[in-house]
Amino acid sequence: MNKNLHPETLCIQAGYQPKNGEPRQIPIIQSTTFRYESASEMAKLFDLESDGYFYSRLSNPTCDAVAAKIAALEGGTAAMLTGSGQAATFFAVFNIAGNGDHVVSSSAIYGGSYNLFAVTMKRMGVEFTFVDPDCSEEELNAAFRPNTKAVFGETIANPALTVLDIEKFANAAHAHGVPLIVDNTFATPVNCRPLEWGADIVTHSTTKYIDGHAAALGGCIVDGGKFDWAQYPDKFPGLCTPDDSYHGVVYVDRFGKEGAFITKATAQLMRDFGSVQSPQNAFLTNLGLESLPVRMRQHCQTAQKVAEYLQDHEKISWVSYCGLPGDKYYERAKKYMPNGSCGVISFGVKGGREAAARFMEHLQLAAIETHVADARTCCLHPAGTTHRQMNDQELAAAGVSPDLVRLSCGLENADDLIADIAQALEAV
Ligand SMILES: *Cc1c(COP(=O)(O)O)cnc(C)c1O
Repeated sequence: MNKNLHPETLCIQAGYQPKNGEPRQIPIIQSTTFRYESASEMAKLFDLESDGYFYSRLSNPTCDAVAAKIAALEGGTAAMLTGSGQAATFFAVFNIAGNGDHVVSSSAIYGGSYNLFAVTMKRMGVEFTFVDPDCSEEELNAAFRPNTKAVFGETIANPALTVLDIEKFANAAHAHGVPLIVDNTFATPVNCRPLEWGADIVTHSTTKYIDGHAAALGGCIVDGGKFDWAQYPDKFPGLCTPDDSYHGVVYVDRFGKEGAFITKATAQLMRDFGSVQSPQNAFLTNLGLESLPVRMRQHCQTAQKVAEYLQDHEKISWVSYCGLPGDKYYERAKKYMPNGSCGVISFGVKGGREAAARFMEHLQLAAIETHVADARTCCLHPAGTTHRQMNDQELAAAGVSPDLVRLSCGLENADDLIADIAQALEAV
């Protein structure tokens, strides 16, 4: 498919082109397994010597079509779906960093990613150094060690809403011979394509805007196909030396830098951990993708209007939204996301923790939910929920203050949302 097509076109047409008489919509191949005429044909699949489907834990046509669409949107060379965003984050990092390795990560990341890195992966022997995403180049470079294998950050951090200086992080990563992995969940490929700014791997929680209807959990990993693993065989032995579990295949030799990362993640991690996305969920994710550009425009317009309203309100102490002139990230967002960022705003209600809770209880349209980035407006108090494991110091490093309310603007009418916020603020 033509690489110069716009996101609106790719969202509809990429990934699946039916032939004569085939279904127009991506079919849901709800089958665990696939039939073959001979054992030798199947053996070739097991040895990664030919393409084809044999078991849906490793690959499924519905999931592959949706992954191919997201790869096209991000401008990548290969992609895989996972059962959730968490699985995508874990696979993206664990595919190249194991016991004894080290990873540099922005400290402003999703609470679930922080927990995965700082607690669970630490237990697996992977050490993380968390850096302020706005730190100087010197501070960033100082975080690297000889055993560093990757750098991780979020385009727009959930819930801190910091905007990552992707070029700065990519330059530092590449100067140390490691790839930059960017979680692009909040911006979506409609508003930002991190691979074009130097990122090497992109991850998504498709559960958020890509699905967009709070219907299907899912994740995705996209490889930009540019990182030259073979240049650093000692750093990335998993990609550059024989895999005994596949008769000695060397991923970079067999699949090139365009395909090695995703093939290894599928062949080893999906095989062993099995965090697959169901074909049914992939189908729902694809319905979301079809309208993603239209929805993102609306989410951004509404968020802009709501942020401007909040900024002028006497009961609001601060508003963070990179679309507001004067916001700390306004200029950076204009560079990386000239057409808009996302529909999520954070702000502080005067009176702190208690006032924030009271305000939220009085909202009628915005529901209190552990979710963001879908058609229905919702709000959350991270310090009391998603980030409750963190102490005050860790909260501050993640950019979360105790009075922070995160509001995810849905697709309702913006004036109705503002009226709802106004009456809830009256009650504070
Ligand atoms: C929600 C989220 C995740 C985790 O995704 P799940 O689909 O809930 O597993 C990862 N990163 C970001 C930025 C998120 O918002």
